[in-house]
Amino acid sequence: MKFLLHEMSWPEAKEYFSKNEIAIIPVGSNEQHGPHNPLGTDHLIAKAIAEETAKRTGVVCLQVIPFGVSHHHRQFWGTIYVSPKTFKNYVKEVCLALNNYGVRKIVIINGHGGNLNALAELARELRENGIFVSIFQWWPAAGKLLPTIFTSEERGHAGSEETSMNLALYPHLVCMDKAVDEKVRRHVTETEGTTLPLDTADYTGSGVFGKSTTASAEKGRIIFEAVVNELVKHVVLLKNARIEDLMAKSKV
Ligand SMILES: [Zn+2]
Repeated sequence: MKFLLHEMSWPEAKEYFSKNEIAIIPVGSNEQHGPHNPLGTDHLIAKAIAEETAKRTGVVCLQVIPFGVSHHHRQFWGTIYVSPKTFKNYVKEVCLALNNYGVRKIVIINGHGGNLNALAELARELRENGIFVSIFQWWPAAGKLLPTIFTSEERGHAGSEETSMNLALYPHLVCMDKAVDEKVRRHVTETEGTTLPLDTADYTGSGVFGKSTTASAEKGRIIFEAVVNELVKHVVLLKNARIEDLMAKSKV
């Protein structure tokens, strides 16, 4: 049984969509992840989680959407970014295309935190159109487990947490001999409770926030398994949910 949309023929897609109203879309970014990780880290991890979940649940998975909201990483070479508006509209049109074949339940696997605001807006809009979109992110999904494996300084962007996921999933793309640890700089105006319009380059020279040298494939495999288990639970719940329980309530 095929579970990747792009590997199906159109009659196979017809067969799937005539029986199922649910699909999975991985999204991410193409942005710097320190001197040792691939630029694709965020979309590659999302893709791996999404495809493994599709395999275990029989829910179709689309190709990963690789470019996201990464303007703040642009000083680092190779970062390819689009505006929140463009990103939101692109993902929205993909969802609407799925809806053309009867899909009304969509799970977006988001690998990049910077995409979240745009995706949350999109999900609210599509619910008004009769399409229920949930957004899944691996780091909060393993929110209880991660602090038992990593210290807070290992959990930052491109740190040991993300690097461990890469080592488990794409070991040939990680150069651990180039991994560095870098203490995040504090901006001169920084105080508690303020949000500043800063870029990654304001905080770090290497692109790593904190510690990355302590990463291991073993730690990554533990997280991956925990994350996929959590996502499988969600996909099954959504698959079995009644549409009327997913749509916005009418006036009370
Ligand atoms: Zn990342």
